[in-house]
Amino acid sequence: MSFSGNIKEELERLIAPSRHCQLAELAAIYDFCGKETEERDGKMVISSENELAVRKCFTLLKKTFNMNKDYRQNEPLYRKIGAQYRLEIEDAKDADRIRSAVKVTEDVMRSCCRRAYIRGAFLAAGSVSDPEKSYHLEIVCQDERRAHFLAGLLESFEIQAKIILRKKYHVLYVKDGTKIVETLNVMGAHIALMDFENMRILKEMRNTVNRKVNCETANIQKTVTAAQRQIDDIRHLMSIDAYKELSAELKEMAELRIAHPEASLKELGELSTPALGKSGVNHRLRKLSRIAQETLHPKTTGLR
Ligand SMILES: [Zn+2]
Repeated sequence: MSFSGNIKEELERLIAPSRHCQLAELAAIYDFCGKETEERDGKMVISSENELAVRKCFTLLKKTFNMNKDYRQNEPLYRKIGAQYRLEIEDAKDADRIRSAVKVTEDVMRSCCRRAYIRGAFLAAGSVSDPEKSYHLEIVCQDERRAHFLAGLLESFEIQAKIILRKKYHVLYVKDGTKIVETLNVMGAHIALMDFENMRILKEMRNTVNRKVNCETANIQKTVTAAQRQIDDIRHLMSIDAYKELSAELKEMAELRIAHPEASLKELGELSTPALGKSGVNHRLRKLSRIAQETLHPKTTGLR
């Protein structure tokens, strides 16, 4: 099962305790269900390839309107036709009652109902990428109005979603890992939230380790390159008369560097007599290089 699939399974099982929330979630499924709901002769049809959304719709209708008491006792309220799951309310009066109950407006929605609505919309048209791969949560909206309405609801929980046009759909999406976790929390997907966080922590730990290794490799590389340059300069000095004129301290450092090409500045300092600190070693090596460069490029004297 995909990460998205697991979240939806969890959300499908979650039933809000209050009727107002159940209606808000029902409204969202009604608004966001994959295929446009067709209504002929006052009949209500909700159809989608998304079985979980249709099943949740059915559960919520049962709870909010006591549907299965006197209505189609022996028949399931939804069934599969081709790839579509269809839920039909044949009685026009029932359909009207439902239709007027699922009309929601943002400004009169309580916070609990806003959560339920977002949950319903996600169940009907949402998905989340596997956090191992990337951070991406999206809800496909059939028009701009619905996309902005939903973005407003998320904004009320301080989740800033963006909207892009993909073919004829307005797709609302969240890319930030922390905000995806907050969205899961708002919807009440607490198991998914923990899974997501665990994977996110593992991923970030791996990234940190990789960064550290890369950084250390770069530092070693830098040290090796610097040492190689010093050795080249010293070898050049040794090949010319100027070397004989160097002070005893500089000659000692030159010989130590050649004898210990992989030693750090600190190690070279410990090998010197008397022992030197890092800056003392650095000072002598730089001086050796400067003299070498001056004999190689007399005109650049004073620039280095
Ligand atoms: Zn509510």
